[in-house]
Amino acid sequence: MFFGRKNPFSTTDAFPLSDAVMEFDDSSSASVRPARRALDGVGPRNGRSAGEKWLMALGLMGLYGLAVAAFCTLGVVDLLVLAVFGVLVAVVCTAFWGIFRSGLYQKIRHRHLKLAMVATALMCMLGLFYLAPVTQILLAPFTFVAVAYGIFTVPRSTLLALSACMLCLYAVVMGLHYLEQQNEALLRLEALHWLALAVSLPAFIALMGRVQRLYRSLYHASRKIKNIQEDAQRDPLVGCFNRRYVLAALEEQKQLADESGIPLCLAVLDIDHFKRINDELGHLGGDEVLRTFARIAQQGVRGGDVFGRYGGEEFLLIFPGTSLLPALNTCERIRAQVETHAWSGLLKGRVTVSIGVTQYILGESVLEFFSRADTAMYMAKEGGRNQVVVEEPVARGHSLLPASSAHSFL
Ligand code: GH3
Ligand code: MG
Ligand code: MG
Repeated sequence: MFFGRKNPFSTTDAFPLSDAVMEFDDSSSASVRPARRALDGVGPRNGRSAGEKWLMALGLMGLYGLAVAAFCTLGVVDLLVLAVFGVLVAVVCTAFWGIFRSGLYQKIRHRHLKLAMVATALMCMLGLFYLAPVTQILLAPFTFVAVAYGIFTVPRSTLLALSACMLCLYAVVMGLHYLEQQNEALLRLEALHWLALAVSLPAFIALMGRVQRLYRSLYHASRKIKNIQEDAQRDPLVGCFNRRYVLAALEEQKQLADESGIPLCLAVLDIDHFKRINDELGHLGGDEVLRTFARIAQQGVRGGDVFGRYGGEEFLLIFPGTSLLPALNTCERIRAQVETHAWSGLLKGRVTVSIGVTQYILGESVLEFFSRADTAMYMAKEGGRNQVVVEEPVARGHSLLPASSAHSFL
């Protein structure tokens, strides 16, 4: 953004929800999707970074590994099981890292791969349970942890289906244990654990559904606030920044220039004989000219420059970190583009703009700065319109332009 410091009108961090919520697949609102896509493309993303997400997943796996290691220390689990766990973690992490690194995940509908992660975690735990029946003590609590990990992105119905699959496989492992060991006491114990999980897991997922709904409504509220804030910065007719925003930006940039000493320029742009255009084309035709003009000007400025409508057919252009000569060149380019634009019908060759531009003098007020640019614009009008006039910052006592540069560009 063009603000080096706190921006009074920057987009909000209200309800800074994780992007997990933004990617929520179960969203019934199709209208949210374009906004979400737009959000994906630009600006800083809310929520955790990829590194933090990896850290969280590794932390959860680490906790499980810690418990298995404790079981090893107590002698209830073979060291081999711990080794198998280590290998599983390495293989799974490498596989997911490869998918994310190669960009393969973008071809998958649910790009966050949360469902795949939860399913893999459950399968790995079942594998260890098969190798070491005692690890079933860990199975139930860590199944809840895995499901909770995916609850904000994986739809409830999918989680329920996944749980049903997991319980079936759990029963298969129990059967294998019985076939291999013919141990009825073990079978009974495992069946009790299975039953406890079978009744509590769906209840847990159902309850978490409420949290899902809460997150979704927070997400929608957050989007609405963001849209309202964006609307409050924009001019409803032409779509560029509005007067309130551009004046706040000017104040902000003035303070930044005072603190850092970096140059700052301001241009006032006024469409020539706009009243005549209105009179000939009507106000709707005039509005269209305003929109086209704003588009031309906006396209002619750099990303860091702030272009906004001051009122009527008058616009402001702020050049942060720019000295007078490059600012003047940009203004001249805009003037020429407006003049040579392929205006239709009656407008052909008749839409022009007068521009006044000046550089900020350290310590002066915004009013003085603005007045100088405004005066330059009126000098451009008096000079015959369709030109750029520079009002040099006299307090400096010396010219900021090369000796060959004229005050007026035409
Ligand atoms: P100059 O070259 O001296 O700037 O002459 P001008 O006709 O452009 O300036 P003037 O201030 O006389 O007229 C500005 C006109 O802009 C008058 C007003 O009706 C019109 N105007 C202001 N806001 C809007 C708007 O939002 N839409 C339209 N269509 N016209 C507007
Ligand atoms: Mg005008
Ligand atoms: Mg005017």
